[in-house]
Amino acid sequence: MAHISYEGDVDPTVLQGKRIAIIGYGSQGHAHALNLRDSGYHVVVGLPEASKSRARAIADGWQPVLPGEAAREADIIMLLVPDQHQRAVYEQDIRPHLADGKMLMVAHGFSLHYGQIVPPTNIDVAMVAPNGPGPMLRRMYSEGKGIPALWTVQQDVTGQAQALTLAYAHGLGCTRVGVIQTSIGEETETDLFAEQVVLCGGLTSLIRTAFETLVEAGYQPEIAYTCCLQEVKLIADLLYQGGINQMHKAISDTAEYGDYVTGPRIIDQHTREQMRGALKDIQDGTFARDWILENQAGLPSLLAMRRKDAEHPIEALGRRIRKML
Ligand code: NAD
Ligand code: MG
Ligand code: MG
Ligand code: MG
Ligand code: MG
Ligand code: MG
Repeated sequence: MAHISYEGDVDPTVLQGKRIAIIGYGSQGHAHALNLRDSGYHVVVGLPEASKSRARAIADGWQPVLPGEAAREADIIMLLVPDQHQRAVYEQDIRPHLADGKMLMVAHGFSLHYGQIVPPTNIDVAMVAPNGPGPMLRRMYSEGKGIPALWTVQQDVTGQAQALTLAYAHGLGCTRVGVIQTSIGEETETDLFAEQVVLCGGLTSLIRTAFETLVEAGYQPEIAYTCCLQEVKLIADLLYQGGINQMHKAISDTAEYGDYVTGPRIIDQHTREQMRGALKDIQDGTFARDWILENQAGLPSLLAMRRKDAEHPIEALGRRIRKML
């Protein structure tokens, strides 16, 4: 059984008086900084002089300092720069300031799991990974609610790491709905797998292939677009609210019958084997190595695929339809 903690399980006072450095002020960074500040904690935002996020941070009432300065002054350092840049920021701005008993935190395990960051043994190391984008983390907190998070302590030299990590999750508002204990490996591998196979890669390939199949067979593209792409939201909302069984109750019997007979034809044994292959590439570091090398090479493949993606006719069509409907 997963171990879930709620507000009552946490002592938020352990974080009182600690100086928390939030490095990066993007999707997660702004939400962590603002939620922790509103929870009464001492937060400093660290950003490079040239960062585009500086203006936003200043508009939100911060006086950003350089990342190295923030790390030097802090007891707790949360690294919220893009995963592929964490190694460089860590080496240059964080590592020199990791005095005994400080705590280094991440919101996703990639850098720790794949050896991009190898923390010294004199500090605490922990993760709080909210299950959603920063703007949602911020909005839910502001409404008195929260989103779930995964958390783990990878290294505990102070004996305080678990209490501090849970207090941090509490400060984000996540214990209002529950936070699940995990490990760096489990969070990293399941997160990558889900985004590649279901949420992003699987879904976009499913939508595009189905759209192309309908258009190739002579159906109107506008109709193919609305039924294969736009209606995904309605089904996703039903799945979110009540799971698969509840979704089946809400759709027509015809749709439900078609689900049972055609779904397994599309996602078949071959797909299952491909999923296992994708998981293996994540587990053995193949995916991570390729992504790290891709970054070192200046993103040639990412930029080419991004361009090709943007040129697909479904994009221009989508822009037209969203204006019309
Ligand atoms: P982002 O791209 O939205 O923001 C990154 C921030 O880092 C920006 O403020 C940018 O200016 C700053 N930055 C870039 N290079 C920097 C440098 N060299 N030094 C200092 N700051 C620098 O990133 P994000 O999506 O918020 O991701 C941050 C972390 O949160 C990642 O580990 C990511 O996996 C994790 N995470 C993201 C989400 C999400 O939905 N976005 C959800 C959970 C966890
Ligand atoms: Mg992006
Ligand atoms: Mg995630
Ligand atoms: Mg992810
Ligand atoms: Mg229908
Ligand atoms: Mg029904």
